[in-house]
Amino acid sequence: MTHDELTRHLVSLDLPASQAGAVFGHLHRWGRPLLTVPRLSARQVQRLQETTQDTVCEVVTEASALAQDGVERDETEKLVFRLVDGRRVEGVIIPEGERSTFCVSSQVGCAMACTFCATARLGLARPLTPAEIVKQVYHARDRAEKAGRPLRNVVFMGMGEPLHHYENTRAAIDILTCRWGLSLGFPKITISTVGLVPRIAQLGADFGGRLQLALSLNAGTDETRRRIMPITEKWNLESLKEALRAYPTRRNRFHLLEYVVLPGVNDDDENLDGVAAFTRGLPAVVNLIPWNPFAGAPFQPPTFEDVGRIFDRLRARGVHVSVRLPRGRPMSAACGQLALQTSAMEAQF
Ligand code: SAH
Repeated sequence: MTHDELTRHLVSLDLPASQAGAVFGHLHRWGRPLLTVPRLSARQVQRLQETTQDTVCEVVTEASALAQDGVERDETEKLVFRLVDGRRVEGVIIPEGERSTFCVSSQVGCAMACTFCATARLGLARPLTPAEIVKQVYHARDRAEKAGRPLRNVVFMGMGEPLHHYENTRAAIDILTCRWGLSLGFPKITISTVGLVPRIAQLGADFGGRLQLALSLNAGTDETRRRIMPITEKWNLESLKEALRAYPTRRNRFHLLEYVVLPGVNDDDENLDGVAAFTRGLPAVVNLIPWNPFAGAPFQPPTFEDVGRIFDRLRARGVHVSVRLPRGRPMSAACGQLALQTSAMEAQF
């Protein structure tokens, strides 16, 4: 429940609505038993507990890239969560200096069918509830804090398309940013989307453009994008650009345009010209993501030099560009590799 929903719930039970903030804080900020909420009697707490349900979202496996013997060591940590129906999703803690970023899942699987993404192969089983989304973040927060690198950013770049079941994502953001709870700053939350145009507009309207938006651009022509991201049939590049233009971005802030580098697919001049045309007039940074491989995928990962060359060619076209270094590849925790190879993982760790 968001704070508003909780307030309404207390009223409906004839319990003091003035305690909504305290109840919310006990649940979301401190994780304390409700019996210690001041000015709620044991009977009232019992009433609250009888009419609500706690959400199961347990960490069942952890894998750290540190534990690996391979050359690609880093300190990324992958968490596998088991949900109430036994289904599983993954999240990734990415340490960055003295702080951490958490990559959260929004759905079990995904319906968007991008051809270069391992999660897409699972199809969509179901959306996550707001509670399941925030609980992943709470687990990550506890671990990051214990490791001495507190959580700074939350990125919706795990499994699923966060704008597909938009209401769930919106409620989760409401809860995470609530001042009685974790009180996460809006700009510390990034929503990454394939580009569901009406939902981008809604996100902008609901949060006044305070959230960081990331669009998975991944191609500079509709033709290429259609081949790797079927959603392009519905929303072409022109409509995406219009949606970004209309998004109420704050001063001095940039949209993030993710670009998964797929050699021989989206790295020709026509695509890069298209990217340059797309970014013209937009406050945007293109973030190159070297494609992370997974079994059976019909693509080649780029070499470091491949990525460097695209970087230069985009720069030469006047595009702001950055590179996302692969993190967590040893245990399939890098972008697009979240597909629950748990059994293999459990054997390994
Ligand atoms: N559904 C959302 C968020 C999840 S994916 C979205 O599409 O934006 C997060 C990012 O990882 C997206 O930019 C996606 O294009 C990228 N990605 C997917 N599979 C990948 C892979 N195998 N290697 C590198 N990046 C990948």
